[in-house]
Amino acid sequence: MSKAKSSKRPTQHRSEALLTLLESLPGALFIIDDASIIVYANASAQSIIGVSPGTFVGNNFWHSTPRLVSPALYQATQKCKQTREPIEVEYVSPVTQIWLHVQISPTVGGLLMQFHEKREAQPHRETFSPDEHLAVDILKNIYIGIGFLTPEGILLDINEAPLADAQIQREQVIGKPFAETPWWSFSSTSQDLLRAAIVRASEGETVNFETLISPRDGMDIHLEVTIIPHKSMDDCVEYLVFVGTDITKRKCAEANIHTLIDAIPQLVWTGRPDGYVDYYNQRWRDYTGLSTEEAQGDGWMRCTHPEDRQRVLETWQCAVQTGRPYEAEQRLRHCTTGEYRWFLMQATPYTDSWGAILKYIGTCTDIEDKKRAEQQLKESEKHWRVLAETVPQMVWTTRPDGQHEYVNQRWCDYMGITVEYMQSNRWAPLSFIHPDDQAGTRALWQHALDTGEMYEHEERFRSIQTGEYRWFLARAMPVRNDAGQIVKWFGTITDIDEQKRVEQQLKESEKHWRVLAETMPHLVWAVRLDGRLEYTNQRAHDFIGSLPDYMLSEKWRQYLHPEDYELVQTVRRRALETGTPYEIEYRLKEGQTGAYRWFLGRALPVRNDSGHIVKWLGTSTDIEEQKRTEEALRQSQERANALMNSNIIGIFVGVGGQVVDANDTFLHMTGYTQEDLSAGHISWSHMTPPEYLARTIEAQQELNARQSTTPYEKEYICKDGSRLPVLVGAVLLRHHPFQAVTFVLDNSARKELEQRKDDFISMASHELRNPLTALKLQITLLHRQLTKQGIQTAALASMETQANKVARLVEELLDVSKIQAGGLEYVRELVDLDMLVREIAETMRHTNPSHHILVHGIVGTNLLADRDRLGQVFTNLLSNAIKYSPGAKTVEMDLSATSETIRIRIQDHGLGITSEQRNKIFDRFYRVNDSRQKAIPGLGMGLYIVAEIVKHHRGTITVESKVGKGSTFTVTLPKGIDV
Ligand code: ADP
Repeated sequence: MSKAKSSKRPTQHRSEALLTLLESLPGALFIIDDASIIVYANASAQSIIGVSPGTFVGNNFWHSTPRLVSPALYQATQKCKQTREPIEVEYVSPVTQIWLHVQISPTVGGLLMQFHEKREAQPHRETFSPDEHLAVDILKNIYIGIGFLTPEGILLDINEAPLADAQIQREQVIGKPFAETPWWSFSSTSQDLLRAAIVRASEGETVNFETLISPRDGMDIHLEVTIIPHKSMDDCVEYLVFVGTDITKRKCAEANIHTLIDAIPQLVWTGRPDGYVDYYNQRWRDYTGLSTEEAQGDGWMRCTHPEDRQRVLETWQCAVQTGRPYEAEQRLRHCTTGEYRWFLMQATPYTDSWGAILKYIGTCTDIEDKKRAEQQLKESEKHWRVLAETVPQMVWTTRPDGQHEYVNQRWCDYMGITVEYMQSNRWAPLSFIHPDDQAGTRALWQHALDTGEMYEHEERFRSIQTGEYRWFLARAMPVRNDAGQIVKWFGTITDIDEQKRVEQQLKESEKHWRVLAETMPHLVWAVRLDGRLEYTNQRAHDFIGSLPDYMLSEKWRQYLHPEDYELVQTVRRRALETGTPYEIEYRLKEGQTGAYRWFLGRALPVRNDSGHIVKWLGTSTDIEEQKRTEEALRQSQERANALMNSNIIGIFVGVGGQVVDANDTFLHMTGYTQEDLSAGHISWSHMTPPEYLARTIEAQQELNARQSTTPYEKEYICKDGSRLPVLVGAVLLRHHPFQAVTFVLDNSARKELEQRKDDFISMASHELRNPLTALKLQITLLHRQLTKQGIQTAALASMETQANKVARLVEELLDVSKIQAGGLEYVRELVDLDMLVREIAETMRHTNPSHHILVHGIVGTNLLADRDRLGQVFTNLLSNAIKYSPGAKTVEMDLSATSETIRIRIQDHGLGITSEQRNKIFDRFYRVNDSRQKAIPGLGMGLYIVAEIVKHHRGTITVESKVGKGSTFTVTLPKGIDV
């Protein structure tokens, strides 16, 4: 500004001329620069403002000229500055009350103002709004402070009342910064409030505030201040209008009200009719942490959630403008936690008797919980929708009467319909249901609607895409409000087609399974994971009787054998824990008899698709018989082992001709060792001497045919080459390869005994023969001598007969002995068999008159044979036939021949021989052990010798017999005998 001043200052010469001119001008003249600093004032100016120019040149015009300052002048200067056009204004000096006429002209860098004092007004030249004057005049007498300020806060004019209150002169304050006037200088707080308000107002804002001023000592006034900016046509702030209202009384009243309000245990506030919130109760302040001063006006925005500010402010302003009650929801911040809670703000206008609003009484109700619940509801509703649209089900809701409200897209897509269609009729979905299911659906749904009971029904819906029906499970639940009334129905429809199919298959397989389980010869059961029995077949029922529900329970104890219970429980528990199949033997009690039977229990887990065990299936197989057999086997094995281990019987297992296993006894008998056995060095066929080969082969044939052999005697060649007489018997194990167990009894002791007997017989018969021959000779001589002397002695004849008998006995003994020793001697001669047989018969008739001996038929040929030995055969057979048929009269002989053979049959009608004895009668010394036969004398040597002689002549001898009927012996001899 100093730069501008110096550049625009006239030159010395020109300025002097100019000064002269200015001094000569009429009226008071001021030149001010753009900053309103007085650059020049003439002498008249001094008289009009009452001070010397030296005191004000260089000072602010408005501060230095209280007698001239007025809003009208200020307004005019502002206008001149803007328009750069000269302007004139007339007004009454607020201080001197003198009319002033002012001409204002723009200069370079400032204004030129020329004042003329006037006695009266010239209205036609008035440029200042008369209304404002009027207003000031009217307000002069009411207790309200009204003033005009420059935008900088210089007081241009003020009404009377505040001057009177402060007891000050107008000129003391006009042109002064308003904040520094006595009203405000009392408190720096009120000064600051005012200054801040002026700054805001100069920027175009209407500012309200309340403050306490003290115009003079002992006078405190509560002032409600409004500063309104006055704007020019081009929206520039020209000056400020200050309105100050004494609200001291109201404040006192309010203080009382506030005391009351503070006592209300709710957040309460009061607002002025213009919407200025002027009081907050204690609770509100405690909650927000703001003082009333801080929150006054729109200070409550500070604790309002930023998102809510705009909205609630507009609502509040709207309420204030329309005079309607205010209601808004907003979040208020809690001072200590910093948390926002939702409140319902309500304010009701309080009016006077004419309906003018005096006050707003507002309350804040904490609705956080409600809000949260609402929010949750909203969210849950949102989630529900999302859920309803995402779940792989069809979801719907209906009104309490069954009318559809909502159906999810999935359902619409499935049936190919719209939501609107569904909403059109509550039975709309029925047409998509399979005809067979419709009646059920209708009835059940109606029932649900009538009773409020849950709806659940399996029904088939037709797919629009495939045109086929699929199975669904429809479910609906009523949703009730707090009062228990149904507000809607919520339903789902789940596709269970696959499940149905599987179920069906399962049913089928279950059916098959059941049939199987029922037909199985086992006890079958299925038990669930909790141990509950799910199924048992009829057989199990029949066996046990009434079954307990739980397999794993104490009740089971009574069915299990006490000795098996613990083991069974332990095994079952372990299996259930590990999921592994188990097998266990136990005894179960039969319900009816109470007897225990052995069972083999088997159980295995049944798993679902995901591998989880769902149940256990088990069978119990009756193994009682098996157990018994096993026991029997065990015992027999024990016996067999005892036998094997006994040192009485030698046992070996032969495969082919080889001995593959043998007990110690056999090895001991034969002199072989375990090593020989292991090395395969023992062969029973090699151990068999050649003379026993034929008999051994015979025994083997018998073994093949009858699985076992009759024990027979033979010899084994031992390891050291010695002979061991044995009695052997065998049992066939298998045919191919030939395998048999052979039992061997050491026969050497018996053999030795027999040998000794044979030796004795041989010796005895030889020793008897000579004296007997001598005796027979002497009897014959004696017989001759006595006959010569003519003496007949019956006794001598009897002696001769007995001697013959003894001689025959000795002959037979000798024959036997000879046979044993190696054989009889035979002679070869031509024998006329017909003659031989008839001679013998004739002889026998003499000695046995009790029987008729009949001879039939002829042989008709001679044989080359031993005549005496053959005679011995027929004599013997005839003698037996007579001897063993004591009650019969006849004995027949029948002779016959074929081209090859000769046959002689000797038949009696006597005692007969049993079939068992028939094989044995040809053995040496064998006699039938029957009391009747025993009574008949004999030594059992005759048939033995007969068989030996027939065998020598390559013939055979057989016997047919019936006990009590008689016997027939048949001797067959080959014609071409070559003996
Ligand atoms: P024995 O000297 O005892 O007659 P044998 O060798 O001649 O001896 O006969 C043996 C046995 O056969 C006799 O003891 C007898 O029991 C029985 N026997 C032989 N022939 C006959 C027969 N014709 N009728 C019944 N039994 C007979």
